[in-house]
Amino acid sequence: MFLSSIALVQTLPCLAELGKIIVIGKPTQPLDDVLPYLATLPDVIAYNPHVPALTFRRQTGFITLYSDRVYITKVDNVDTGIELLKALTDAINVTWEHRDNLVAASTIKRAPRPLDIYSILPQTNCKKCGEATCMAFACSLLLQTRTCEECIPLRDDPAFEERMNALKSML
Ligand code: SF4
Repeated sequence: MFLSSIALVQTLPCLAELGKIIVIGKPTQPLDDVLPYLATLPDVIAYNPHVPALTFRRQTGFITLYSDRVYITKVDNVDTGIELLKALTDAINVTWEHRDNLVAASTIKRAPRPLDIYSILPQTNCKKCGEATCMAFACSLLLQTRTCEECIPLRDDPAFEERMNALKSML
């Protein structure tokens, strides 16, 4: 076992969504050794081995891990936060147990920015998605308030199939 637990040490209001909280946890030991293995898992959107810092996207919000702190955004309440910290502890331990089957990550991975997403969209500002511009739609995708399929040309035109796949892999 790598880690006994992650203790909840603080909560803050989550500015990204009214009524939700940010849960801050402290692991029983530094996470430095396990972060390069966690960085190989799906749903990792950013990793910087030099900090070190790692961010996962979860269904709503994000989980960011540093050496001695864990931040989980958009959490419903304290009880849910405690459950998420327990689940994260289990996930860290399972990853550590299987580390021999993983290749530790050593390079920086950064989260996509609006311009990265915009560059893949059709860039016609056709408004079929309900947004005024493709850039507005790109921002909505990053905020997870819209889905790729809501860009009608991207969804329906076979010529955009590769772009659609690229977009899905970025998000
Ligand atoms: S439907 Fe797609 S192409 Fe049209 S404005 Fe929205 S994002 Fe741009």
